[in-house]
Amino acid sequence: MIELEGLTKRYGEKVAVRDLTFTVRPGIVTGFLGPNGAGKSTTMRMILGLDHPTAGDVRIDGTHYDRLQDPLTYIGALLEAKGVHPGRSAYNHLLCLAQSNGIPERRVHEVLDAVGLTAVARKKAKGFSLGMGQRLGIAAALLGDPRIMMFDEPVNGLDPEGIHWIRTLMKSLAAQGRTVFVSSHLMSEMALTAEHLVVIGQGRLLADTSMADFIARNSRSYVRVRSPQRELLLDVLHQAGITAVESGDGTLEVDGWEAERIGELAAREQVVLHELSPQRASLEEAFMRLTAESVEYHAHTGTPAPVQAWGDGWKRG
Ligand code: ADP
Ligand code: MG
Repeated sequence: MIELEGLTKRYGEKVAVRDLTFTVRPGIVTGFLGPNGAGKSTTMRMILGLDHPTAGDVRIDGTHYDRLQDPLTYIGALLEAKGVHPGRSAYNHLLCLAQSNGIPERRVHEVLDAVGLTAVARKKAKGFSLGMGQRLGIAAALLGDPRIMMFDEPVNGLDPEGIHWIRTLMKSLAAQGRTVFVSSHLMSEMALTAEHLVVIGQGRLLADTSMADFIARNSRSYVRVRSPQRELLLDVLHQAGITAVESGDGTLEVDGWEAERIGELAAREQVVLHELSPQRASLEEAFMRLTAESVEYHAHTGTPAPVQAWGDGWKRG
């Protein structure tokens, strides 16, 4: 379990994370969703004690990260910027982490195997592709067989097969009763992976709810209607007390009425229809609406600056 209480982080004038209070529970995948710059990585770094909160508190199974004995055996994490020494092999990187956390060498072989890196384990990490780098980061997170796992944007830059693999891995870790906390800026990704959802924008908590509840509350359904007799159709709908909204491309969108009703009405009034299709607004749209006022644009800098690499938190002693 990860518990945040009033967690706040300021960088000078900038409030990156503002008064976040929520709990990440075991047995399910909890998605941590927010647009770029929302404060996801900062929050995760504070959970790991790599950044110190300006205010508030965060505990891992009731204890601060700094106080954990052999922290990798409590919580494993894949962070955004991976601090693997480029001249070091995957094997040596993991062995170092294992030795400083009282983890047996045998476990290094197990996790290399689990992430599919055994064949390249002795190669220098600088030759690794993005996908191989992600797999190495995940191997490190799995190393201590921790009950709590945290992944910061794990599917970024991965091919569809890699994305599927990570998704399956996270779900199976949760099914084993572990706490799994995963961030993304993509609603579509979260909808496929997470059972619970924590949404932030500009460092603030916007939602803390089950995915099912989020979907039920946010997926607007409507009917798309297209007719070469658009004016006539509008009249007919209007007379029946049905409100239609024109969408950009000449089609009409009707809220709150079933396609059957609209089709029958059009048939009765002899209006030709070229399209009559029930739609569901995407969750991506719901997410955009929710965060619209809190999006931080990075138009000038492109992407957010790279964050601090794996800090000393991993390398105690
Ligand atoms: P996310 O991971 O959701 O994209 P971040 O946590 O990386 O967001 O960043 C949140 C905000 O804090 C952004 O405005 C970012 O520019 C700022 N920020 C992050 N790290 C630092 C830092 N070390 N110094 C100053 N500002 C930072
Ligand atoms: Mg981030």
